[in-house]
Amino acid sequence: MTHIAVFGSTNMDLVAYVAKAPQRGETVTGREFRTLPGGKGANQAVAAARAGATVAMIGAVGNDAFGSGLRSALDHSGVDTDLLRTVEGPSGTAHIVVDDDGGNAIVVVPGANASLTALSAGDTAEIAAADALLLQLETPLEGVLAAARAARESGVRTLLTPAPAQPLPPELLAATDLLLPNEHEAAALTGIDDPAAAAAALLSQVPEVVVTLGAAGSLYAARGAAPVTVPARRVTAVDTTGAGDTFVGALAVSLAEGTPMPQALEWASAASALSVQRPGASASMPYRTEIDGAAG
Ligand code: ADP
Repeated sequence: MTHIAVFGSTNMDLVAYVAKAPQRGETVTGREFRTLPGGKGANQAVAAARAGATVAMIGAVGNDAFGSGLRSALDHSGVDTDLLRTVEGPSGTAHIVVDDDGGNAIVVVPGANASLTALSAGDTAEIAAADALLLQLETPLEGVLAAARAARESGVRTLLTPAPAQPLPPELLAATDLLLPNEHEAAALTGIDDPAAAAAALLSQVPEVVVTLGAAGSLYAARGAAPVTVPARRVTAVDTTGAGDTFVGALAVSLAEGTPMPQALEWASAASALSVQRPGASASMPYRTEIDGAAG
């Protein structure tokens, strides 16, 4: 079975649904409150596990009630949490206010995720044994860099989602095989609004780029090859939270199984189209049989 290692964030999303978000100094009464397991690292881990890989999550939760909830949510999704440490202090949280127009305001408090600055010997061995390593930027850059280096030293393919967008150290890009920004992150990284031109510019730093374009699909660029555009499936989206993480998790599994890029992109596109038709981030992620059925 394909084996994927994920190094990244685990957060509890605390979501308040209100008619209108409060202004500074104002108190409003919300309609509903939900706690939803999240964090880009954990979301990509769940997506890859449901897509059919064995997955190990390298991360950290706090020794609070959210920490045990986050761990059991990952366990429940079949993700191996042996390398998910529990550290003193609070878990990472995302405080989200969603208004009736679908707009949101978010405060992320990293909590335990801030402790992920270095690898343990167990982490390094886990990465070396994986078919691919998934990285994002919701944990300290020094830890992300250490994980990318460990993968590079073992010849393990590294997929980096550069979110939240921030300047990237050249050393991290040098250890990245496939960079997966969405269109906003691609523009932020390059200063170029056109996704194809941004992808072309990024090829000076990484050998392969996939820019995801929401309902417009995705664009693949590689050195020395013509770019490929994969349209999104035409579906009625009810909640696009986690679409990108579903896409990355599914793509990683398919590529690690040896599927050529164009077909792997089609499969990931089918997976993310299933996820946008259901509410929630990790809760909406499809299982392999569903993806195979939809990809036909
Ligand atoms: P992110 O969540 O990181 O912003 P995107 O919004 O670009 O990522 O979405 C990732 C992928 O999910 C897209 O490439 C597309 O395949 C799929 N997707 C996103 N929104 C839709 C939609 N409304 N309909 C169908 N597929 C979608």
